[in-house]
Amino acid sequence: MDSVTPGHSHDGPENQVRKLEPMSHGRTDLRKRKPRTVAVINDYCTGCAGAPVCIVYCPVDMCMFWVPDDTHPPFGKVQVDKSTCIGCAKCATKGPDGIFLDGCPWDAIEMVATGEWEAKRGVALREIPDPSDNGSEFVPEIYV
Ligand code: SF4
Ligand code: SF4
Repeated sequence: MDSVTPGHSHDGPENQVRKLEPMSHGRTDLRKRKPRTVAVINDYCTGCAGAPVCIVYCPVDMCMFWVPDDTHPPFGKVQVDKSTCIGCAKCATKGPDGIFLDGCPWDAIEMVATGEWEAKRGVALREIPDPSDNGSEFVPEIYV
């Protein structure tokens, strides 16, 4: 279970998670197909004290974003909008034998087979995202 569970306590629509800064900024075009893998944030995520290292590597606008821990401010963690993630793994730790080169230095991001993630969550991601999925301030909780 995630230490910070995405919720809808941030003055937004029901069952939606607001994408707060720090947030990834980059391409705004829709992905053309469902990626083979998606980035999943695990419990090792510390939130990097509010200055996430990973987010700058993500090339997709508003794909990675900050989720505050309402019970332990100012802490929080990063989450990934799976409906816009392109599975590029730029955010994940890279380097032989776990040596940090770029991406998350704490092994807090796992690239998970999309089908596996969908089955575990009981959700089917769209092959091509709904245009409203890109550039929206909110993401359905089931996609996080
Ligand atoms: S995923 Fe890694 S780099 Fe990103 S906020 Fe969490 S610990 Fe920091
Ligand atoms: S896999 Fe790529 S698109 Fe997905 S969150 Fe990581 S950097 Fe962003």
